[in-house]
Amino acid sequence: MPLRNPRTRKAGLLRWAALSALWAASALCTQAFAQELVVEHVTVVSPERSSELQNATVTVHTGRIAAVSSARSGQRATLPYPGVQAVDGRGLYLVPGLIDSHVHLSSIPGMTDEQELAHPEIARAARAQIPSSYLYFGFTTLIDLISAPEAMTRWKSHDPIPDTYFCGGAALIDGYPMNYAPKPARYAAWPYMLVEPEATDALPPGINAAEHSPQAVVARMKADGAICVKTFFERGFGAAHDLPVPKPETIRAVVQAAHTAGLPVFLHANSDEAQTFGLDTGVDVIAHGLWNVKDTPSGDDVTPGMKTILDRVVAGKVGWQPTIEVLYGLQNLFDARFLSEPMLPRVLPRNLIDWYGSSEGQWFHDVLGKEVAAADGAKSHSEMIRPNLAVPVATVKAATAYLAEHRARLLFGTDTPSAPTYANPPGLNAWLEMRRLLDAGVTPAQIFEMATLRNARALKLDYDIGTVQVGKRANLLLLRADPRQTVQAYDQIVKVIVGGRVFDRDELAADHATRAQ
Ligand SMILES: [Zn+2]
Repeated sequence: MPLRNPRTRKAGLLRWAALSALWAASALCTQAFAQELVVEHVTVVSPERSSELQNATVTVHTGRIAAVSSARSGQRATLPYPGVQAVDGRGLYLVPGLIDSHVHLSSIPGMTDEQELAHPEIARAARAQIPSSYLYFGFTTLIDLISAPEAMTRWKSHDPIPDTYFCGGAALIDGYPMNYAPKPARYAAWPYMLVEPEATDALPPGINAAEHSPQAVVARMKADGAICVKTFFERGFGAAHDLPVPKPETIRAVVQAAHTAGLPVFLHANSDEAQTFGLDTGVDVIAHGLWNVKDTPSGDDVTPGMKTILDRVVAGKVGWQPTIEVLYGLQNLFDARFLSEPMLPRVLPRNLIDWYGSSEGQWFHDVLGKEVAAADGAKSHSEMIRPNLAVPVATVKAATAYLAEHRARLLFGTDTPSAPTYANPPGLNAWLEMRRLLDAGVTPAQIFEMATLRNARALKLDYDIGTVQVGKRANLLLLRADPRQTVQAYDQIVKVIVGGRVFDRDELAADHATRAQ
């Protein structure tokens, strides 16, 4: 959702990051080729199968699934390659690794760039841990919806990491969410911003409108390696609530250029007006749930206005990411118990959790609390109020339930972190989002499909990931429970396999070293 920090980096750092990424990539390759794997006597659960494959043998060669077969009980499959690592899958489930199709990886959650520079040790520990935190909860593929090659290079300098792809962020110039970065730094931070023809005479110096047409922007992000386009319809909230929004013809042109280039288009849209705009302009995925509507639902049922939108989402097979936990990620800043949540030390370094609890670490809590108080007619500048998100929570829950019931194309995306909040922690946030989806009536089987094959198809990655099938990349999870029956399965992960490399779940935890003692 909202606020992000402008990101400007020095060329020296960039070169260093690029070199270390090359080094990491070559190290990865050698390991992948050395790693041959066979998982025996396992139950394969994969979204394209109508039923599980019992007592199966799955072999992995050079990071890909080489064979999936059903062996007779007690019989050992012949190992096709020397030096094979064998895993006994008896009593376990082998499933495709999960995909989160909406994350933001460039900043450390809850930290500004200045704070990161001021606390290099905390920052180093955080950046090294965060990729493992996603793996810890079973996410072997991530899609950063707003990134660029420089930030991706930095992220990929760590090891291990989930497979990571990015969309270019095509924000309207000076619109959401560019508005949160100061001028003129925002223009460099948003290389794929859109400039509409009418705006060309009022442009800031150094900006060439021709480079920011829908066609030019899409061509540039495609050349930079993006696999999708992210755009925005948001008039704003809090202090900034009157932001410019793109014209329908602009986003139609973005969609046309993107489809010609083979890229799906994701739209930030969380209101009835914004989601209607997305349906009218033909975007592929609405990257948020429906939170803000004119005719608020009174109970669990959707209103006629919501029904009109949601029926179009169903009929048009438009992808729809509920992102319910985003709302709790704002509310939980005001709940002191959140930083004592027992799962938090598994995904965040201790020094970062402690910093979040410091007065400096509470900066976004203070900003948000004052903003809510001001909107409420606060008398003093120090007054803070916890945001009351009961209405958007009830609205998105009713909308999600309606879509689940009508078999809409729901996609699993968390928007981690949605804002500079620490209350959407990497990996753990997805686990929390699954609870919200269940609570809204989405079944574990639907969640499993949303986070695997359906996400893979939405991103056109299904040739490579999303199922347990021969030829696909060996991104796999070994679980103690069947994820079609219970989401608890994702907290009972035994092994996480990325491109054929096998990790014990525990070794991915942030507190692994202290817990192992
Ligand atoms: Zn987002």
